Amino acid sequence: MEKRELVCVACPLGCGITVTLGDNGEVLDVTGNTCKRGDAYARSECTAPTRSLTTTVRVEGGKDYVVPVKSAAPIPKNAMFDCMKVINETSVKAPVKIGDIIIKDILGTGVDIIATNNAE
Ligand code: SF4
Repeated sequence: MEKRELVCVACPLGCGITVTLGDNGEVLDVTGNTCKRGDAYARSECTAPTRSLTTTVRVEGGKDYVVPVKSAAPIPKNAMFDCMKVINETSVKAPVKIGDIIIKDILGTGVDIIATNNAE
């Protein structure tokens, strides 16, 4: 049995949550959360953690050299490194418009990488 201490990030209150995990990593108990969202966050963080990804992608043939991008949804934490490798090897041709899909379904995660600004 293992206990993990988390700070819930689902709202600004930041409740401290304790999760009790079984020997196979299964969630046995969640305490300290003051609402259901905290319970869901804690279970997800302990079994399938995800993170939003924000970075930049190279732009070719325009005035701007890079364009800021983000994942359209959180991606599995254990895929972050490989996703960053793909993004670092990617370049797009100018112009880029905010909301353009830069990489569709990155590494089969089902999540698109989208531009968060324009690049001339
Ligand atoms: S447990 Fe609920 S109230 Fe507490 S930080 Fe998470 S979302 Fe907010």
